[in-house]
Amino acid sequence: MAETEVLVVGGGPGGLSAALAAARAGAKTTLVERHGCFGGVITQSMVGTIAWYRTREATVDAGGIGVEFEQRAKAMGASLEVNRYQVLDTEVFKFIADRMVQEAGVVPLLHCQTVGVILEGRTLRGVITESKSGRQAILAERVIDATGDADLTHRAGAPFRIGPKQELEGVTVNFGCSGVDLARFIEYVLKNPSSVADWGDESGEKEKAEFSTYLVEPFDKAKAAGEIPRDVRMESYWGSFTDAGEIPNLNAIHMSGFDATDVRDLTRAEIEGRQQVMWAVAALKKYAPGFEQARLRTIGASLGVRESRKILGDYHLTGHDVLNEARFEDSIGIFPEFLDSNGIAVMPSTGRYFQVPYRITLPQNVENLLVAGRCVAGDRISHAATRQMMCCTVTGQGAGVAAAVSIEDGVTCRDVAVPRVQAALRRQGVRIE
Ligand SMILES: Cc1cc2nc3c(=O)[nH]c(=O)nc-3n(C[C@H](O)[C@H](O)[C@H](O)COP(=O)(O)OP(=O)(O)OC[C@H]3O[C@@H](n4cnc5c(N)ncnc54)[C@H](O)[C@@H]3O)c2cc1C
Repeated sequence: MAETEVLVVGGGPGGLSAALAAARAGAKTTLVERHGCFGGVITQSMVGTIAWYRTREATVDAGGIGVEFEQRAKAMGASLEVNRYQVLDTEVFKFIADRMVQEAGVVPLLHCQTVGVILEGRTLRGVITESKSGRQAILAERVIDATGDADLTHRAGAPFRIGPKQELEGVTVNFGCSGVDLARFIEYVLKNPSSVADWGDESGEKEKAEFSTYLVEPFDKAKAAGEIPRDVRMESYWGSFTDAGEIPNLNAIHMSGFDATDVRDLTRAEIEGRQQVMWAVAALKKYAPGFEQARLRTIGASLGVRESRKILGDYHLTGHDVLNEARFEDSIGIFPEFLDSNGIAVMPSTGRYFQVPYRITLPQNVENLLVAGRCVAGDRISHAATRQMMCCTVTGQGAGVAAAVSIEDGVTCRDVAVPRVQAALRRQGVRIE
């Protein structure tokens, strides 16, 4: 179907950043996405809280494309400003992503899923796609796997790990409501405030001081009344609201025991998740002040997945690294000491941060392939940081620039001169140190 210099597969925060960065660094770039819009979890699961951790002055970010997403949304009136961050309007973000892709000169391909790879020995030469146009091939000098699930790494026979499904982070069907009496609801929230420390994860003293949109009482009441099965884990985070009485994203359904790389599990989770959404809406209407007249308006277009395959890379990022301000010579950006998932919650209110090493984007035993986003190499605790959308934009932008520089210099991704990548990233506004 096409030939390109850099091919990015997956248009979530990781892939979108990778494609924009590669094109801005001068590479002819194609971005392939299986759904009808870019944005990944942002647009499929309506998660606009890309920087919700930035509650304190001290918190530091890498800047770069993630912050640009916030600024673009703000400039279009397509975000809600809270504290020091923007919550993206995830519907308008579909359009913002289109515009950014077009402006950077990235060739977009929507409704196109990769199903295989073209290898010459251990060198990746391209991918096989399936779409309404049939089975086709795209040849590329460099490929970036931003599928979230490390699909290409898996297809290329490169090593990865995935935990037993009972131990993977839960999957979620997000939903949104309209017709909420916000004054009543906010009054209720303020009378029953929650903090990050209420999540039940391992956290410290400072997390008690961090307000959270965590809401569990209505669901507990519904369980006590026999309206929701007791063994269902239901507790909601509501990211934002609009003047029109909408809560666009309720993240209440947390289902364990599903492997997001298994089509039968994906199907079961979508159907079970929608059942739970119906229970959740009924509980909110009955037990959450302000929700009495609310209506279910949206259900996420696709299941939200937090954890699946993780590549084995040239470096394995550890929990110790992200909790001890690790520094790396091959830094491609920084990320604040913010962890959320796999039983740990740490808020980055101190100004502490770690550097993100380039080597976590380099899969072992294959050439011409980089990964970006949540499937980068690391353990379960470091995943609680690297899965965050803003960190996905850091690994995305780093991988995109590295791919472009490696083509320009005629070297493999593994041999690329890191100082050249860092210089190009600085020119793109990324903080490395
Ligand atoms: C319910 C939920 C709530 C969350 N809340 C927050 C939050 O508040 N803040 C935060 O920072 N993070 C949050 N996260 C985590 C964060 O959203 C994800 O970790 C992040 O989006 C991962 O980015 P990614 O680009 O790696 O993958 P994704 O966002 O999953 O994007 C991957 C993209 O690749 C496409 N794709 C996959 N396979 C193929 C293929 N074979 N061919 C073509 N396209 C393919 C997918 O359709 C998708 O668009 C949340 C996650 C979930 C599930």
